[in-house]
Amino acid sequence: MKHFRESEFKHYDKMDKSFLSFLDNVRDSYGKPFNLHCDFEERQGQHGEGKAVDFDIKDGWRLLDQARKLIEICEGLKKPFRIGVYPYWNNQGFHMDCKNEKLFWILDKKKTYIYFQDKECLFDALSNLWKL
Ligand SMILES: [Zn+2]
Repeated sequence: MKHFRESEFKHYDKMDKSFLSFLDNVRDSYGKPFNLHCDFEERQGQHGEGKAVDFDIKDGWRLLDQARKLIEICEGLKKPFRIGVYPYWNNQGFHMDCKNEKLFWILDKKKTYIYFQDKECLFDALSNLWKL
């Protein structure tokens, strides 16, 4: 990996190598550090398979703009991916994995997941969060 040290992961040895390469490519195109919060975790889902990370990006951009850029980059890599957006984390950020279904979601203030198939609907929902 070009942009991550093994020590940035809690369970580097349990991470899927092709996912790590995807993550590194996304990070490379983004051009700013990703602060990892969570990688492999002993639980159901993509984290349990070592194919997901949670992170934030401290580049001073709004979450909506970060989401737009991330999704554009992921689409350019022509691999399946899913992005979850977490505006109410202490460090607002993202979940990213490579499960083979294109899906986006937001975890809202009431801790309810709202799912979107269409990125434009995700962007609309994110921009509405800041209009309230
Ligand atoms: Zn996650």
